[in-house]
This record gives sequence, C-alpha cells and structure tokens, in this order.
Amino acid sequence: MQRIAIYPGSFDPVTNGHVDIAQRGLRLFDKIIVAILSNPVKDFLFTVEERIEMLVSSFEEYPNIEVGTFDGLLVDYAAKKDSIAILRGMRAVSDFEYEFRMGLANHRLAPDIETVSLITNEDHSFLSSSTVREIASLGGDVSSMVPPHVESALKERFAELGDGQQIVPTTSMRD
Ligand code: ADP
Repeated sequence: MQRIAIYPGSFDPVTNGHVDIAQRGLRLFDKIIVAILSNPVKDFLFTVEERIEMLVSSFEEYPNIEVGTFDGLLVDYAAKKDSIAILRGMRAVSDFEYEFRMGLANHRLAPDIETVSLITNEDHSFLSSSTVREIASLGGDVSSMVPPHVESALKERFAELGDGQQIVPTTSMRD
C-alpha cells in the first residue's frame, strides 16, 4: 500500500521553505499531496489557480508530489485521498501553539490520521509567505526565498497593483 501524506496550506505564494518540507516528506512517504484550502475567508495575493500553477511548476521534477485543492474539513479530504498523515512544517515556537491545536483537533476528528511536523531547514527558518509578499511589495530581492517562477509572478502582480500600493494582503494571523 502506498503511504500518502497531505501537506495542506495557503501557499500564497509557495516559498523555498514549503518546497523543502514537501521534498523531505518524500523520505517518509511514497506520495505527498500538497493541498490548497480553496474556500478561505481571507484575502489572498494569488488566486487558487495561480497558486496551483506555481506549486505544479515548483514540483515538476517530483512525480511523487501532487498538487490539489480542498474545501471543507482537511481530515475528510485526507481520508478521501487514502492518506495516513498530515504533513506540516514547524519554524519557531510561535508555530507550535497553532500546530499543536490543529494536530489535536484533527486527531479527535480522525484518530487514524497522524500529524507529522518536520522542523524547518535552518536556511529557511525565518521564511514565510507573508515576509516574501512584504519584501516583494516593496521591491526587495526575494530570489533566495522562492523559486524563480514565483519571483517573476510576484514582480508581475505588484506591477499590476501599481506604485504606491502599500497594501500587503495577509493570509493568516499567524503567518
Ligand atoms: P497555513 O495558512 O496553513 O499556515 P502556509 O502556506 O503559511 O499555510 O504554511 C503551510 C505549512 O508550511 C505550515 O505547516 C507552515 O508552518 C509550514 N511552513 C511555512 N513556511 C515554512 C518554512 N520556511 N519552513 C518550514 N515550514 C514552513
């Protein structure tokens, strides 16, 4: 039986930190499904379709990393995909409380699905999508933080939004 894990998140946009977690997940699982929650209440810089495209390009050399979307409960999606685990990344202590609560809640809902949190690669420990969005919105260099195609997409999006656009959409209170 294939050992499948779901790696859920907003990925607005995908960063090198996300890519690292998914790739390392492949050491533990046969297949990783990177999954975007598709009916959020939050504002995003990129649409779901754009985020899917960026994820697919990031993992094109990894046939065992798939990209998907879900709405509703994560554990329902995980069960539908025959997953045995939910994969998450852990950066700092600040991540812990949220991850801990979510892990416990998901365990209550679906005791057979384990949450596996991988500790960030120290090179990416400060990296979050919101940091990347903020730097890119101010014209800073994000080339060491995201894949090249994401860097281009950020440049394009902030050019479209125009000069003087100081609004940096936030995707997550924690992020
Ligand atoms: P969410 O809105 O669910 O937090 P994110 O896209 O921000 O979605 O993050 C998805 C997952 O990736 C989370 O588990 C988060 O902790 C993890 N993650 C984000 N950035 C990094 C990073 N630089 N290193 C390791 N894990 C990370």
